[in-house]
Amino acid sequence: KEGAEKFTFQAEVNRLMDIIIHSLYSNKEIFLRELISNAADALDKIRFLSLTDKKQLGDQSELEIRIKVDHANRLLTIQDTGVGMTKDDLVKNLGTIAKSGTSAFLEQMQKSNDMNLIGQFGVGFYSVYLVADYVEVVSKHNDDKQWLWESNADGNFAVSEDTDGEPLGRGTLIKIHIKEDASEFLEEAKLKDLVAKYSEFINFPIYLYSSKEVSKEVPVEGEDSEEPEEAAGEDDEDSEEGTEDEVEDADDEDDEEEEEKPKTTTVKETVWDWDLLNENKALWLRSPSDVTDEEYLNFYKALAKNDYEKPLTHVHFRAEGDMEFRTLLYIPERAPPNFLNDYYGHKAQLKLYVRRVFISDDFEELIPRYLSFLKGIVDSDTLPLSVSRETLQAHASLKVIKKKIVRKVLDSLKKMSDAEKEGADAESSEGEEASEGMKESEKYATFWKEFGRTIKLGVIEDAPNRPRLAKLLRVHTSADPEKLSSLEDYVSRMKEDQKQIYFLSGNSVEELQNSVFVEKLIQKGYEVIYFTEAIDEYVMTHLTEFDDKKFQDASKDDLKLGKDDKKGMKKLKEEFKDVVAWWKEGLGSAVSAVKVSSRLASSPAIVVTSKYGWSANMERIMKAQAL
Ligand code: ADP
Ligand code: MG
Repeated sequence: KEGAEKFTFQAEVNRLMDIIIHSLYSNKEIFLRELISNAADALDKIRFLSLTDKKQLGDQSELEIRIKVDHANRLLTIQDTGVGMTKDDLVKNLGTIAKSGTSAFLEQMQKSNDMNLIGQFGVGFYSVYLVADYVEVVSKHNDDKQWLWESNADGNFAVSEDTDGEPLGRGTLIKIHIKEDASEFLEEAKLKDLVAKYSEFINFPIYLYSSKEVSKEVPVEGEDSEEPEEAAGEDDEDSEEGTEDEVEDADDEDDEEEEEKPKTTTVKETVWDWDLLNENKALWLRSPSDVTDEEYLNFYKALAKNDYEKPLTHVHFRAEGDMEFRTLLYIPERAPPNFLNDYYGHKAQLKLYVRRVFISDDFEELIPRYLSFLKGIVDSDTLPLSVSRETLQAHASLKVIKKKIVRKVLDSLKKMSDAEKEGADAESSEGEEASEGMKESEKYATFWKEFGRTIKLGVIEDAPNRPRLAKLLRVHTSADPEKLSSLEDYVSRMKEDQKQIYFLSGNSVEELQNSVFVEKLIQKGYEVIYFTEAIDEYVMTHLTEFDDKKFQDASKDDLKLGKDDKKGMKKLKEEFKDVVAWWKEGLGSAVSAVKVSSRLASSPAIVVTSKYGWSANMERIMKAQAL
């Protein structure tokens, strides 16, 4: 457009668009999910603003999404009455500011070439270039004039005041000029299917301008018979009215010429109208017993913004009492991309609603960090609607909600973990197919593989729930180093005279099995836990006991194996006095003490660390981290 201001895309955004527009990725349809999701976000925002300022809605009080096709111009348009974008928003959000997810997404595209996850990286808008070579975004924000953003993805975009277009009132209109190889997205049936597939649970009505064939009785004979054809050529809405008038006229004529029977014929006529495609289902408001497995699954897919991800399980409950809320949370089958690499930056996909109105998806107070892999919805009946995000943040009741959610989630995980054991005990009773596909008894292993590290972080970070979290841990032990055991399993196998839970940390199970630290323990028939992850050392500084039994590091000098033979030891100490003194002199300040010990079986000597110091393994970890 003439007089438009030109901008270049930020470098990474440009690279991303380049990849998208040249992509051979076949699942192009995801663009619609992304654009509808953006429209819904914008609608959520204006609804939220209007809670405290009714004027924000102006005379555009319908909050909705409308989709329309213009075949002649190969144009698909998506319009929302959301918050809209100012000129500045358009420039920043659609081109010049790279989101943190941009490079992460580029990286993962290189690995898997899977466009489907684009929405999770915060760059969903650009997926529109899977189906278009030219896109226009018209937007009207309450604080600004109406602006037009346009780009054919050649590295540049232009922004100009939109003086020619129809005034939007408020919101955003996206004009998608569909590419030759994407014509299917100009078909009503296809669009209907896609909205049903991806956007069933969008909380705002989605309309599609669609045609319907209707039968009409029209008079034959004379001039009348030509009417329907003429009408069909006219503008659609008028044609409908026009035909009705004709029918009435015909009736009038009948009254006048009574003996003559009305001669009519049935013709098919195309009527255009806005068709509501979704039903606005707030699944979480329903009682769990009324929701089918398929509904749970579809709702999850909508939340996860992709169509193949599955949840391991869900937690759906209603809390009553002075803090009423409902929640539907899912534990995914796979960890979110980059979850542990970006543990402190990762945001939970958790939406907070107050009495069905979306408030925010940016509440760290709602869930502890180590559970931020959960996806779902919390809908409070008790929180005040008319408060800003800031005051909500400080609201004490969020703590109550958080506490209850954590309990329920940990309960659910414990159940899953018990099912694993029961499944193993009973060699899994056939047919107990889990609601989300996988066998109940197989779920926990999957969970542990994906989220075991997170549970360990939970042990470190969540002191009140530490005993609960400890029950969810899985460890390798000397009993069967190949398999994973729970601590409950370990305790159940403890020898009668065994008072402590023994563990040793190192690089690999292999190395630990052959360590001199464990030889005597194993000889005496005590089981030893082998920790091989760096994080385990930190976990064990926080987790000091389980089931009233203390943990004992086998590499520390306070390891005691049963009762000491005091007399015998005294004799031995006497006998080795000179050797010990010689060692101490030789080693000097490199060691704090040299002692005669009964803890070894076949090895002559061992270097241990003091009860209060770091273990050798911990020292190694600290050194590695300091580099
Ligand atoms: P995300 O939705 O994850 O933020 P997108 O790439 O889908 O990432 O969108 C980028 C940004 O563009 C959004 O955050 C929003 O600010 C803006 N945006 C996109 N579509 C709309 C719309 N229909 N109405 C208002 N703002 C929009
Ligand atoms: Mg988006």
